[in-house]
Amino acid sequence: MVPAVSTVGRWYVKALVIIDMLDDFVDGALANPRAQAIVPPLKRILDHARREGWVVVFSNDAHQPGDPELKVWGEHAMAGSAGAQVISELQPQPSERELISPKRAYGAFDGTGLDEKLRALGVDEVVLAGQHTHICVRHSSYGALIRGYEITIPGDAVCAFEGVDENDALDYLRNTYAARITSVDELVRVKAEAHASA
Ligand code: ZN
Repeated sequence: MVPAVSTVGRWYVKALVIIDMLDDFVDGALANPRAQAIVPPLKRILDHARREGWVVVFSNDAHQPGDPELKVWGEHAMAGSAGAQVISELQPQPSERELISPKRAYGAFDGTGLDEKLRALGVDEVVLAGQHTHICVRHSSYGALIRGYEITIPGDAVCAFEGVDENDALDYLRNTYAARITSVDELVRVKAEAHASA
């Protein structure tokens, strides 16, 4: 029995989806020099999400040999390997509201069962963060759009590869998937102001 999705009331039920903040994507096989800069904002939004009782999802590459994507990137984040672990700064906590969601392709919703799990928890808005703005965040945004989720993306908690224009990548998400592009500051502050005026 799946609870009804809440469409009334002032607040959506949110899930923070942290995508591919894994050792291989920060300083391993596919190290990204931009990744370190998004760790403090990610930590801040993760702390906020936990305080506010959002669902938290770690959407993690966990590849098997022969996965199609390996043709493009070579081996990375192989299931069970050290490189496939979430970086130490953002460690998942044991909680019914924190999900580890392994994936074998770019999109957080592709063949992962994540949609069903989020619906069971009443989630109707996803806050997408992590890497990479123009690849996995993008494919996850498409997956979220076609399944009916509202999409929010804090622009300071995502990053693309070096050489990719971040603003172009964010514009694509805004224009193609109706993603609301915001900042960690704004997400944390909006809630603080709502509490103050309640
Ligand atoms: Zn991958």
